[in-house]
Amino acid sequence: MNIVIAGAGIAGLSAAEAARKENPKCEVVLFSREAQRPYFRPRLPQVVSGEAASDAIYVHPEEWYRQPGLEFRLGETLLEVNPETRQARGSLGSRLTYDALLVATGAVPFMPDAARNFTLPGVFPLRTLTDASALRQTAKSSRTAVLLGSGLLGLELGFALTRMGLTVHVLEMGGRVLPLQTTPKSSAKLQKLLEAKSFVFHLGAEAERAEGAERLERVVLKSGAGINCDLMAVSAGVTAAAELAVPLGLKTDRGIVVDQFMETTRPGVYAAGDCAQTPDRRGGMWSIARAEGLAAGRNIVQEDPARRVPYVPVAPSAILKVAGIDLTSVGNIDPEGKLPFSEHEEGDSYRKVVTSPAGLMAGFTVLGNREGVAELTRAVNKKSLDAGMLEALSGPGFDFKRLDALPG
Ligand SMILES: Cc1cc2nc3c(=O)[nH]c(=O)nc-3n(C[C@H](O)[C@H](O)[C@H](O)COP(=O)(O)OP(=O)(O)OC[C@H]3O[C@@H](n4cnc5c(N)ncnc54)[C@H](O)[C@@H]3O)c2cc1C
Repeated sequence: MNIVIAGAGIAGLSAAEAARKENPKCEVVLFSREAQRPYFRPRLPQVVSGEAASDAIYVHPEEWYRQPGLEFRLGETLLEVNPETRQARGSLGSRLTYDALLVATGAVPFMPDAARNFTLPGVFPLRTLTDASALRQTAKSSRTAVLLGSGLLGLELGFALTRMGLTVHVLEMGGRVLPLQTTPKSSAKLQKLLEAKSFVFHLGAEAERAEGAERLERVVLKSGAGINCDLMAVSAGVTAAAELAVPLGLKTDRGIVVDQFMETTRPGVYAAGDCAQTPDRRGGMWSIARAEGLAAGRNIVQEDPARRVPYVPVAPSAILKVAGIDLTSVGNIDPEGKLPFSEHEEGDSYRKVVTSPAGLMAGFTVLGNREGVAELTRAVNKKSLDAGMLEALSGPGFDFKRLDALPG
């Protein structure tokens, strides 16, 4: 069986591994648009700050890609596919016929108008190793950065820039820092901690345009205020890279629509990772892209559809890797406070645990330490029944081992 995979991010790579493990006789051709072998994308902020050892960034050593049954086409984009003849063509001239195809093309950064319309140097997205190197080069000789977006990735990038000595002005359209992973309380605490680390926050603020004669000099906000700066980094979300859906005639929505087996609307064509939209509509995370890739790889090699195994969604988990500040959010943290919850506060630390109305563990956020994070994560993934434990969780000295004993 010949399998072609477009995209060698964690989804494509995990699928290749799973397919070869499930059916060692299958032949996998892995196309990678990027010129570097697969690397840990979440470590890019440390590449910007210069803290990531160059070898530690890569998922596997070079030799790994020379195993029998795997053909790795580095630096070659899968350009054309013909779903009728099952033929594919790569940008470096490869032509091949496949039995099954996996689209694992990831996502591309969303660039707001203020960033997209400015064509001179000084504006940077951060998605690839190439982006990270370019950003680092400019940051080395810069003093002030404007950062669009205060999501997890933006804050980690902002922190990398502060480590290089820059002052970072963060523009956040919403009313609080890290809006998707915090509650109003944990966000206010987090903002205070970050302000002590050379971050300047502009909440409810949006960039109108960038200005500069030969390169970026200033970002003007919709309010009319201006911020003089040397670079603008953009972390305003991503869009699924779903171009191949057009020639393949696949249904798309926010990504390529797949079923519980990671198969698209065209039989024999699978999709996984940031480019895919699973029935639970979650994505944009390393662990999820990996789990989807593994499921797609296992299923794509099954000649008997009855042997396929459904993808089991993993609860989204977010960990802020800004030195000295621990923030973990897993599952539904219900920022609006509509579901049953308990809170525990102590100095700069904060914990909120949320259950469904029926008492099933739904999510939690812990700021300031990692106490109970492993047990709480297991309880959320197991959808444990809380059985009246919420109140005890609001007190100090809670024994988190009690969570492991809860029925799932
Ligand atoms: C800076 C940064 C920090 C992050 N931090 C975290 C974090 O802390 N925790 C977390 O859970 N997630 C994090 N993420 C998100 C996580 O990295 C992604 O969700 C994950 O990498 C998605 O994997 P993927 O394989 O679906 O896509 P990608 O990693 O985007 O890989 C897709 C690959 O396919 C290539 N490609 C596209 N089209 C083609 C084609 N036609 N032919 C060949 N190749 C093609 C692309 O160039 C790319 O190399 C972060 C992301 C970034 C950018």
